[in-house]
Parts: sequence; structure tokens; C-alpha cells
Amino acid sequence: MLNVKRVVLRSRPGKNGHPIPDNFRVEEIMKSHELKEGQVLVRTLFLSVDPYMRCRMNDDTGADYLLPWRLDECVDGGGVGVVEASKNKALSVGNIVTSFNWHWQTYDVMDGSLLQKVDPEMVDGHLSYVLGAVGMPGLTALLGVREKGHVTAGTHQTMVISGAAGACGSVAGQIGRLDGCERVVGICGSDQKCQTLVTELGFTAGINYRNGDISSALREQCPRGIDVYFDNVGGPISDAVISQMNPGGHVILCGQISQYNKDVPYPPPLSEHTQDALRRNNITRERFVVLNYLEKHEEGLMQLGHWVKMSQIKVLETVVTGIENMGEAFCSMMTGGNVGKQVVKISD
Ligand code: NDP
Repeated sequence: MLNVKRVVLRSRPGKNGHPIPDNFRVEEIMKSHELKEGQVLVRTLFLSVDPYMRCRMNDDTGADYLLPWRLDECVDGGGVGVVEASKNKALSVGNIVTSFNWHWQTYDVMDGSLLQKVDPEMVDGHLSYVLGAVGMPGLTALLGVREKGHVTAGTHQTMVISGAAGACGSVAGQIGRLDGCERVVGICGSDQKCQTLVTELGFTAGINYRNGDISSALREQCPRGIDVYFDNVGGPISDAVISQMNPGGHVILCGQISQYNKDVPYPPPLSEHTQDALRRNNITRERFVVLNYLEKHEEGLMQLGHWVKMSQIKVLETVVTGIENMGEAFCSMMTGGNVGKQVVKISD
């Protein structure tokens, strides 16, 4: 038997409630590590906390591709770990593996067919990147920009990104720059984050939305209007951006985190004024879901891995240690405590 620590959902915040660390509980259990044919024993190295998990805390997620977490059961999400014992022909002891449905526990017995093997070379040895820049958030940035952004090098485009200092936003802005946008302006929640965008990631400018008037800051930083908007947050920030978009512009509707603690459908309804601006200026605003492009994931991950290795994309991460801190890390990410991808290190 193996002593295993795991995180269960203790309570739901309610559709209009803010999540708190106390919604989660850490328990210790004894678990058999006897393997059936096809199974492996994995030790967890890193776990991911992501905004979509807020929907999984409700008893109805509002999305048909997301199941709600059940009360008093172990929660799951993106994870990466190492195989410690194997009865699966495709996986050997020492292999690094990942899954979107990794239980928040220190060890697990998993069916090998549910795991993807990771080549540590692809992330230059930084295994946590599998959950960030060279994983689902990186793919969201890359495919979001490429599928919905209509970026055309040499046409002097201005791209604005909200949630710009987070996992998806920080990569999306760098791809906008690599793909040839003339100006890349990020909106985020602190002066320190704004400075990081410019000095470390090569954004043209950062705007701290907590400093008041976003509209005049946008006018100053985007003197030729906005052509592409990578929208991670929705709400009043997005209303302000859309009102300064050029005719024929494109909104990449990636996420609406400012509305996730509210009982509204996804995507949340827009004000009449913003709908009118979209219509009048012939601006596209198509919903983007990374899971709808599974056939492009492998090639996308190769591209992201290459950029990271060549230092063409800089990776930002906020790492906390210990499975006891999963709930804290999730709630901190939901309120802007992270710079870049928020991950939790579970073991060495
Ligand atoms: P982040 O790493 O960006 O973390 C969330 C960030 O959101 C926080 O750091 C905070 O930064 C910001 N934030 C929180 N509340 C607000 C608010 N009220 N107003 C403005 N900003 C806020 O998370 P991800 O990169 O993982 O996700 C970013 C977005 O992308 C989310 O909306 C998510 O749902 C979406 N997403 C969509 C996918 C898809 O397939 N469409 C896939 C993956 C993610 P700050 O300090 O700037 O406030």
C-alpha cells in the first residue's frame, strides 16, 4: 500500500460566488499500487490550475465538454509526472507522461492509454512547460492567433491582448510580435506586470487596467486604432478595446474570466453599444476553443517547443510548491496572483 495525499472538492462557491481555498480539502489515503495489465504507477511532478476549473466547481459547468467536479471526490486537471512502475508495453519506468485529466494526488495508478508520453527535450528539460507555453495554454495562444486573428505581416497591424501577463496572453502577444504585428499592447492588472511585458517579452506597451481610464491609455498606445484583439477577460475592458477597433478587425474570443464568478451563459451577452460597434465596423468575433483543433496540436507543440528553445518565446511561470497549496494557487490565479503560467510543484 502507498500513502497518497490528494485534494477533494469540499464545497462549491455557488454560481455567483468567488472560489476560496476552503472549497478544497487535502486528505491522506492508503492506496494499493498493484497494477493490472495496461496500467502504470505515476508520481506527480507538476499540476496545473486553470480558469476553466471555475466552471467545474459548479454543479452545472455550462459547457458540454466539461464535467463538473463531484463533492468529496478527488479533482483533476492538467498534470505531468513520471512512471514509477509499469504493466503497459508502451511506457517504461522513468518515462515522463502528461494528461488533461490528472488527479490532484501525489501518486496515481492510471491506464497507460490515457497518458501522452513527453519528450523532455521538447521543453528543454523544463517539465512544467508541458502545462503552459508548450502545452494547452501555448496552443490556445498559437491556434487562437492563427485561426481567428488574421495577422498579416507588413500591414502595420496593432494587436491588443487582455489578460496579457497570464499563461495564454503572455504567449499570444509574443506570437503577435513574431507573426508581424507592428504594435502589441497588453492589458493586465499591475504596473509590475506591464513592465515585464515590455522589458522581458518585447510588447510595445502595457496598460494597467486598475489605474483607471483604459480608453485614454488605449488611444495613446494604439494611435492607428486596433486591428486584432485577443480577448481573455471580457466585461468593461473588452468594451473599451472593441470601441477603438478599426473596421474589418478581428476579436479572438478566447475567454471571459472577468465573468466566471457570475451566473451568466458563455459567452456572456454584450452591451447594445458593443454589439453595435462590431456590426457597424464589420468586426469578426468568433468563439475559439482549443479542443476543437486536436488535429493541429502536435504540430503546434513542435512549433512552440522550437520557439522556446530558440528563446524566441520567453516563458513566464509562477510556481508554488506542495499539494496542500493547490486551492490557494487556484484562487490566487483567479485574482491575478500569477505572472505567466501558475503551476504547483508536487515532487522533484
Ligand atoms: P491566466 O494565466 O491569464 O490567469 C488568469 C488571469 O486573469 C489572472 O492572472 C488575472 O490577471 C486575470 N483576471 C482575473 N480576473 C480578472 C478580471 N476581473 N478582469 C481582468 N483580468 C482578470 O489564465 P490562462 O492564461 O490559463 O487563461 C486566460 C483566459 O483564456 C481565460 O479566460 C481562460 O478561460 C481562457 N482559455 C481559453 C481556452 C480556449 O480554448 N478558448 C483555453 C485556455 C484558456 P491580472 O493581474 O491581469 O488581473
